[in-house]
Amino acid sequence: MDISNIRAQFPILTKKIYGHDLVYFDNAATTQKPQQVIDELVKYYTEENSNIHRGVHFLSQYATEKYEKCRTKVASFINAPQPETVIFTRGTTESINLVAESFGQAFINEGDEVLISALEHHSNIVPWQMICERKHAVLKVIPIDKNGDINIEMLPELITSKTKIVAIAHVSNALGTVCPVKEIIKLAHEKNVPVLVDGAQAISHIKVDVTDLDCDFYCFSGHKMYAPMGIGVLYGKKSWLDAMPPYQGGGEMIQHVTFEKTTYNVLPFKFEAGTPNVGDAMGLFKAMEFMESVGYEDIAAHESRLLDYCAERFNDLGYVSIIGTSAHKAGAISFLLKGIHPYDTGILLDKFSVAVRTGHHCAEPVMQFYGIPGTVRASFAIYNTLEEIDYMIASLQKVYSMLSI
Ligand code: PLP
Repeated sequence: MDISNIRAQFPILTKKIYGHDLVYFDNAATTQKPQQVIDELVKYYTEENSNIHRGVHFLSQYATEKYEKCRTKVASFINAPQPETVIFTRGTTESINLVAESFGQAFINEGDEVLISALEHHSNIVPWQMICERKHAVLKVIPIDKNGDINIEMLPELITSKTKIVAIAHVSNALGTVCPVKEIIKLAHEKNVPVLVDGAQAISHIKVDVTDLDCDFYCFSGHKMYAPMGIGVLYGKKSWLDAMPPYQGGGEMIQHVTFEKTTYNVLPFKFEAGTPNVGDAMGLFKAMEFMESVGYEDIAAHESRLLDYCAERFNDLGYVSIIGTSAHKAGAISFLLKGIHPYDTGILLDKFSVAVRTGHHCAEPVMQFYGIPGTVRASFAIYNTLEEIDYMIASLQKVYSMLSI
């Protein structure tokens, strides 16, 4: 794989910050965008912009066709059985809120239980807390061990006759742990409990096959997989989506409206009220093409080399503790410099033009588990290099010598 050719497709990577070449290790927050995604947005707004679905004119029909082609491409990208099981949303957060609200409205009642894990991003905690509070249901949590792995042995006892849904991250954004979602789905299905997978951190690193996983819902954000911000996906099994009430009311999601009664549209439109994000869907199409041009096997091999190399270099330094030491990790490595607040490390790394994230990473319960205020997180994408890791390590040595006096 020719990394320099891949890097050349990302114009922002040539940027200098404070006079240094940008080293962008904040990919778990959002990835950079390749030129073909940027060009597609310009093309859409220059030549193709129109509102979709109801227009009889050329541009509207053209944009509708491209938008629906993107849905079909997402379906094949994640191996969903039908395009109508792919709902476009603003991102993972909206996808999870949609399920929590709509599934919760129909199927969660007083005394029922929702099961999540201790690894979750706030986006896969708070929507469930909100519906549990409203329905007087109980939120239960699968604990993690000190490596940051989910305690899967506890699952058979945690899934009870009252459990209505399990909602679990495919990859932890705070620690990089890859969760055994297939095993979890199998165990939950043995008790007839559906599973939602938060794939926000998986989709750019791991080939996702929703049919093979047999998950009931899968959520992800375009902007974490080289696509624009503001477009995301909810995949759901047709039987569930058909049985769930609409999430939002408005245009497109209706079949007929009278003041007495409204009937709802078929899938996927039932869950897509209002004007959709057509331009960014086109960008998502190009991002999927970009990922296919590299291939998941090469992506995974390259990124795991980066992770292993980074962990080795951290261990050599002697004053870095890695937070989250699961044997199965993807994309991200969280760490602390001995005796130094993560915020100070992040601020100084920035002065060397190394972009990392510091803090609780919207996963406060993970930080509470380790008894720390936060971590520094370096997260990798396909365009990152071993040389960039060397540069971060050299910068960290300077940061440590400045702050450890
Ligand atoms: N879930 C996980 C695991 C995440 O890492 C994130 C974002 O970092 C989200 C959900 C929320 O994604 P978004 O802000 O794109 O909706």
